[in-house]
Amino acid sequence: MVDSVEVESKHVAPLAECAHCNHMLPPGLGEIQCEICEAVCKVSHQPTVDALIEESVPCPHCNMILVAGTEERPVDLTCSGCNGVFALTAKIVKVEIECPGCERKLRIRPRPGTRQLDCPACESAFNVTF
Ligand SMILES: [Zn+2]
Ligand SMILES: [Zn+2]
Ligand SMILES: [Zn+2]
Repeated sequence: MVDSVEVESKHVAPLAECAHCNHMLPPGLGEIQCEICEAVCKVSHQPTVDALIEESVPCPHCNMILVAGTEERPVDLTCSGCNGVFALTAKIVKVEIECPGCERKLRIRPRPGTRQLDCPACESAFNVTF
């Protein structure tokens, strides 16, 4: 068994919209395929790319600070201090949605298209579209 240690990246590109149907694209950079209309869109966001390449992460094994050196996520990094291996994974994008019934804020992972949410506070159901 190999220990799989994962560290979540601190940076992520802002959510982009499909140029064809205006629905949200899956998070990521580069050529991203729209899950709604299947068009392939090029997503670029230089400040995020720079931040990802320069991102410093503490090794989960020995806490030495390492620099990612690439915008690829996930990426396997080997610590130069302890030779420990870990995966630097993509940050999980969450957005805040306000319940139209009781104004409670719900934090959800956006997915392209329309889906129904159930508010845990007032139990009203409503639709969100990304
Ligand atoms: Zn689309
Ligand atoms: Zn280490
Ligand atoms: Zn509610």
